[in-house]
Amino acid sequence: MKHRMLAGFFSLICGALAGVAHADIKEPPMMTREAWGAKPANIANMLKHDGPYKGIVVHNTATPQAAWKHKTTKQKLQDIQFGHQKNPHLFRKDMIKVQGKWGDFAYHYYIDIDGQIAAARDPQYQGDSGTYYDMSGQLLVVLEGNFDKDPTNAKQLASLDAIVAWLASKHGLSADQITGHRQNFRVGTTKTVSTQCPGANLEKYLPELRRKTAAALQSK
Ligand SMILES: [Zn+2]
Repeated sequence: MKHRMLAGFFSLICGALAGVAHADIKEPPMMTREAWGAKPANIANMLKHDGPYKGIVVHNTATPQAAWKHKTTKQKLQDIQFGHQKNPHLFRKDMIKVQGKWGDFAYHYYIDIDGQIAAARDPQYQGDSGTYYDMSGQLLVVLEGNFDKDPTNAKQLASLDAIVAWLASKHGLSADQITGHRQNFRVGTTKTVSTQCPGANLEKYLPELRRKTAAALQSK
Protein backbone atom coordinates (compact mmCIF):
# COMPACT_ATOMS: atom_id res chain seq x y z
CA MET A 1 0.00 0.00 0.00
CA LYS A 2 2.79 2.33 0.93
CA HIS A 3 4.44 1.68 -2.45
CA ARG A 4 1.26 2.41 -4.33
CA MET A 5 0.87 5.70 -2.53
CA LEU A 6 4.45 6.60 -3.29
CA ALA A 7 4.03 5.68 -6.93
CA GLY A 8 0.95 7.89 -7.09
CA PHE A 9 2.88 10.73 -5.53
CA PHE A 10 5.71 10.45 -8.04
CA SER A 11 3.38 10.18 -11.01
CA LEU A 12 1.77 13.42 -9.84
CA ILE A 13 5.17 15.07 -9.78
CA CYS A 14 6.05 13.69 -13.22
CA GLY A 15 2.70 14.89 -14.55
CA ALA A 16 3.39 18.36 -13.23
CA LEU A 17 6.77 18.41 -14.95
CA ALA A 18 5.54 16.98 -18.25
CA GLY A 19 5.30 20.35 -19.94
CA VAL A 20 8.92 21.16 -19.08
CA ALA A 21 10.95 17.96 -19.04
CA HIS A 22 11.29 15.77 -22.09
CA ALA A 23 9.08 12.75 -22.16
CA ASP A 24 10.23 9.31 -21.19
CA ILE A 25 9.30 7.57 -24.42
CA LYS A 26 10.28 3.91 -24.73
CA GLU A 27 12.73 2.58 -27.30
CA PRO A 28 10.78 0.79 -30.06
CA PRO A 29 11.62 -2.88 -30.79
CA MET A 30 14.69 -3.04 -32.97
CA MET A 31 16.74 -5.69 -34.79
CA THR A 32 20.27 -5.61 -33.39
CA ARG A 33 23.43 -5.53 -35.51
CA GLU A 34 24.21 -9.04 -34.31
CA ALA A 35 20.78 -10.23 -35.47
CA TRP A 36 21.28 -8.99 -39.04
CA GLY A 37 24.90 -10.10 -39.20
CA ALA A 38 26.65 -6.72 -39.38
CA LYS A 39 30.36 -6.68 -40.17
CA PRO A 40 32.49 -4.77 -37.67
CA ALA A 41 32.66 -1.02 -38.17
CA ASN A 42 36.00 0.48 -39.21
CA ILE A 43 36.01 3.19 -36.57
CA ALA A 44 39.36 4.59 -37.75
CA ASN A 45 37.39 6.02 -40.68
CA MET A 46 34.55 7.41 -38.61
CA LEU A 47 34.09 10.74 -36.85
CA LYS A 48 32.51 11.02 -33.42
CA HIS A 49 29.82 13.62 -32.87
CA ASP A 50 31.69 16.58 -31.42
CA GLY A 51 28.84 18.03 -29.38
CA PRO A 52 25.22 17.49 -28.44
CA TYR A 53 22.77 16.01 -30.92
CA LYS A 54 21.24 18.67 -33.17
CA GLY A 55 18.60 16.85 -35.12
CA ILE A 56 17.18 13.84 -36.94
CA VAL A 57 17.53 13.55 -40.71
CA VAL A 58 15.09 11.34 -42.63
CA HIS A 59 16.30 9.49 -45.75
CA ASN A 60 15.17 6.93 -48.29
CA THR A 61 17.36 4.14 -49.63
CA ALA A 62 16.33 5.22 -53.16
CA THR A 63 16.08 1.54 -54.16
CA PRO A 64 12.59 0.86 -55.55
CA GLN A 65 10.81 -1.51 -53.15
CA ALA A 66 9.86 -3.91 -55.98
CA ALA A 67 13.53 -4.41 -56.91
CA TRP A 68 14.27 -5.90 -53.50
CA LYS A 69 11.24 -8.11 -53.04
CA HIS A 70 13.23 -11.36 -53.13
CA LYS A 71 15.66 -10.31 -50.38
CA THR A 72 15.22 -10.69 -46.65
CA THR A 73 15.75 -7.66 -44.44
CA LYS A 74 18.94 -9.25 -43.14
CA GLN A 75 20.28 -9.57 -46.70
CA LYS A 76 19.30 -6.01 -47.54
CA LEU A 77 21.11 -4.67 -44.49
CA GLN A 78 24.21 -6.73 -45.22
CA ASP A 79 24.21 -5.62 -48.87
CA ILE A 80 23.87 -1.96 -47.94
CA GLN A 81 26.67 -2.19 -45.38
CA PHE A 82 28.91 -3.99 -47.89
CA GLY A 83 28.30 -1.23 -50.45
CA HIS A 84 28.77 1.58 -47.98
CA GLN A 85 32.05 0.24 -46.63
CA LYS A 86 33.44 0.43 -50.20
CA ASN A 87 32.46 4.09 -50.69
CA PRO A 88 35.26 6.66 -50.67
CA HIS A 89 34.89 9.78 -48.55
CA LEU A 90 34.36 12.56 -51.06
CA PHE A 91 33.15 15.34 -48.86
CA ARG A 92 35.38 15.40 -45.82
CA LYS A 93 38.86 16.79 -46.15
CA ASP A 94 40.16 14.95 -43.09
CA MET A 95 38.93 11.67 -44.51
CA ILE A 96 40.16 12.32 -48.05
CA LYS A 97 43.69 12.76 -46.63
CA VAL A 98 43.81 9.15 -45.50
CA GLN A 99 41.81 8.01 -48.53
CA GLY A 100 39.55 6.19 -46.17
CA LYS A 101 36.31 4.58 -47.14
CA TRP A 102 33.09 4.82 -45.16
CA GLY A 103 33.56 2.95 -41.91
CA ASP A 104 30.09 1.47 -41.66
CA PHE A 105 26.48 1.52 -42.74
CA ALA A 106 25.86 5.22 -43.48
CA TYR A 107 22.68 5.62 -41.40
CA HIS A 108 22.05 5.01 -37.72
CA TYR A 109 18.63 3.37 -38.05
CA TYR A 110 16.87 1.47 -40.84
CA ILE A 111 13.15 0.86 -41.36
CA ASP A 112 12.24 -1.94 -43.77
CA ILE A 113 9.14 -2.20 -45.97
CA ASP A 114 7.16 -3.87 -43.17
CA GLY A 115 8.14 -1.32 -40.54
CA GLN A 116 10.82 -3.49 -38.89
CA ILE A 117 13.42 -1.16 -37.35
CA ALA A 118 17.09 -2.15 -37.32
CA ALA A 119 20.05 -0.63 -35.49
CA ALA A 120 22.69 0.22 -38.10
CA ARG A 121 25.55 2.66 -37.34
CA ASP A 122 26.50 3.32 -33.72
CA PRO A 123 24.83 6.68 -32.98
CA GLN A 124 27.91 8.00 -31.15
CA TYR A 125 29.52 8.34 -34.62
CA GLN A 126 28.52 10.75 -37.38
CA GLY A 127 26.82 9.25 -40.40
CA ASP A 128 28.07 9.27 -43.98
CA SER A 129 26.60 10.57 -47.20
CA GLY A 130 27.25 10.72 -50.92
CA THR A 131 26.28 14.39 -50.78
CA TYR A 132 27.81 17.28 -48.95
CA TYR A 133 26.15 18.34 -45.72
CA ASP A 134 27.09 18.74 -42.08
CA MET A 135 26.36 15.46 -40.30
CA SER A 136 27.77 16.38 -36.91
CA GLY A 137 25.09 15.96 -34.26
CA GLN A 138 22.62 14.48 -36.74
CA LEU A 139 20.90 11.14 -36.24
CA LEU A 140 20.14 9.53 -39.59
CA VAL A 141 17.04 7.38 -40.12
CA VAL A 142 16.52 5.69 -43.50
CA LEU A 143 13.35 4.12 -44.86
CA GLU A 144 13.48 1.37 -47.44
CA GLY A 145 12.13 2.55 -50.78
CA ASN A 146 12.32 5.17 -53.48
CA PHE A 147 9.63 7.57 -52.38
CA ASP A 148 9.64 9.54 -55.60
CA LYS A 149 7.97 6.39 -56.97
CA ASP A 150 6.92 4.16 -54.06
CA PRO A 151 4.05 5.22 -51.81
CA THR A 152 4.74 5.28 -48.08
CA ASN A 153 2.87 2.65 -46.08
CA ALA A 154 1.27 2.80 -42.64
CA LYS A 155 3.66 0.29 -41.00
CA GLN A 156 6.76 2.17 -42.10
CA LEU A 157 5.33 5.51 -41.02
CA ALA A 158 4.24 4.12 -37.63
CA SER A 159 7.80 2.90 -37.04
CA LEU A 160 9.19 6.24 -38.17
CA ASP A 161 6.86 8.01 -35.71
CA ALA A 162 8.00 5.67 -32.92
CA ILE A 163 11.73 5.94 -33.46
CA VAL A 164 11.71 9.68 -34.04
CA ALA A 165 9.65 10.31 -30.88
CA TRP A 166 12.04 8.09 -28.90
CA LEU A 167 15.18 9.75 -30.29
CA ALA A 168 13.77 13.24 -29.75
CA SER A 169 12.82 12.38 -26.18
CA LYS A 170 16.13 10.66 -25.40
CA HIS A 171 18.31 13.44 -26.80
CA GLY A 172 16.23 16.48 -25.89
CA LEU A 173 15.39 17.39 -29.49
CA SER A 174 12.32 19.32 -30.56
CA ALA A 175 10.03 18.60 -33.50
CA ASP A 176 11.47 21.42 -35.59
CA GLN A 177 14.86 19.67 -35.51
CA ILE A 178 13.46 16.89 -37.73
CA THR A 179 14.43 17.41 -41.36
CA GLY A 180 14.65 15.56 -44.66
CA HIS A 181 18.00 14.98 -46.36
CA ARG A 182 17.30 17.40 -49.23
CA GLN A 183 16.76 20.25 -46.77
CA ASN A 184 20.30 19.80 -45.39
CA PHE A 185 22.01 19.47 -48.72
CA ARG A 186 24.53 22.18 -49.47
CA VAL A 187 26.16 23.20 -52.69
CA GLY A 188 29.72 23.66 -51.66
CA THR A 189 32.20 21.46 -53.47
CA THR A 190 33.03 20.62 -57.06
CA LYS A 191 32.11 17.02 -56.29
CA THR A 192 28.62 17.98 -55.17
CA VAL A 193 25.87 15.61 -56.19
CA SER A 194 22.29 16.75 -55.79
CA THR A 195 19.65 14.59 -54.11
CA GLN A 196 15.91 14.03 -54.16
CA CYS A 197 16.16 12.15 -50.86
CA PRO A 198 13.90 11.37 -48.98
CA GLY A 199 11.63 11.42 -52.07
CA ALA A 200 8.42 13.37 -52.63
CA ASN A 201 6.02 10.92 -50.96
CA LEU A 202 8.05 10.75 -47.76
CA GLU A 203 8.97 14.41 -47.74
CA LYS A 204 5.32 15.45 -47.75
CA TYR A 205 4.82 13.39 -44.56
CA LEU A 206 7.46 15.34 -42.59
CA PRO A 207 5.14 18.13 -41.36
CA GLU A 208 2.84 15.46 -39.91
CA LEU A 209 5.84 13.66 -38.38
CA ARG A 210 6.82 16.92 -36.66
CA ARG A 211 3.29 17.44 -35.34
CA LYS A 212 3.11 13.86 -34.04
CA THR A 213 6.53 14.14 -32.41
CA ALA A 214 5.58 17.39 -30.70
CA ALA A 215 2.38 15.76 -29.42
CA ALA A 216 4.26 12.68 -28.17
CA LEU A 217 6.78 14.87 -26.32
CA GLN A 218 3.95 16.86 -24.72
CA SER A 219 1.74 14.00 -23.67
CA LYS A 220 4.13 11.85 -21.62
ZN1 LIG B 1 19.45 10.73 -48.00
